[in-house]
Amino acid sequence: MEQMTLCIDISKCTACRACQVACKNWNQLKAEQTKNRGSHENPPDLSANTWNRIVFMETRLADGKIDWAFFNDRCRHCDDPPCMEGAESLPEAIVRDDSGAVVFTEKTKELDFDDVASYCPYGIPRKDDVSGRIVKCTLCVDRITHGLKPACVQACSTGSLNFGPRKEMLRFVEARVKALGPEANVYPDPMEDHNTLWILPLNRKHYPLAQARPIPRRQQMAKTRMPIAIGAAALAAAGLMHFRERGLHDPQRKRAETNH
Ligand code: SF4
Ligand code: SF4
Ligand code: SF4
Repeated sequence: MEQMTLCIDISKCTACRACQVACKNWNQLKAEQTKNRGSHENPPDLSANTWNRIVFMETRLADGKIDWAFFNDRCRHCDDPPCMEGAESLPEAIVRDDSGAVVFTEKTKELDFDDVASYCPYGIPRKDDVSGRIVKCTLCVDRITHGLKPACVQACSTGSLNFGPRKEMLRFVEARVKALGPEANVYPDPMEDHNTLWILPLNRKHYPLAQARPIPRRQQMAKTRMPIAIGAAALAAAGLMHFRERGLHDPQRKRAETNH
């Protein structure tokens, strides 16, 4: 199967959370008891039963206006997944599918959760205490390999969630960034390294989850990859490519840093 990419256009998200519900529905994930924390943002974090969620972000801009944006947090489906380094003792436990999906299999039960989680720069893996598995978004690999869109994309009525062949999505990203203006940019960097991409209409300093901290890879994966040229060259020319940033996963610290 050709490589696919999911692209999230922040500028079109209304925080309706149909994507959260669709993910639970397709993956048979339980609802969670939550409480009013003084925010419409709910639930407060990813969990074994919540594989994507809308993070509410409010920023006062230089002109005094308030920007209210919604960041759909989920696995970045890294092309060279750092989390696979935490599964070196059992290489088939975490696999990268041809479609670009990074999938945590049943065998993750046999892995050390803290070790796997420590490799993810984005704080994504969660332990399912019932099944013993380590879980996260699968990119709906069980749908996309049968020609269907991911359940969350199917449920999104605003055009915020987009999915398609990698080359098409890179062209889409390029066009949207141009249309959104000079501050618009793409996260994460470099975008060729990820199969989930976010289009950010404003400078990324307005989006706490787009501030990854550097993390040295304990071991570089041996895999070599051909660079994907389409889109990247144009974006690089437009000054939109930045240096790679990686963050050390610490869910408590990350939540503390991103709560606002
Ligand atoms: S379904 Fe689309 S518009 Fe609604 S919260 Fe999810 S990404 Fe945003
Ligand atoms: S975001 Fe984290 S869990 Fe997802 S593929 Fe990358 S390293 Fe693995
Ligand atoms: S791609 Fe599938 S598993 Fe991932 S957030 Fe969307 S519905 Fe959930």
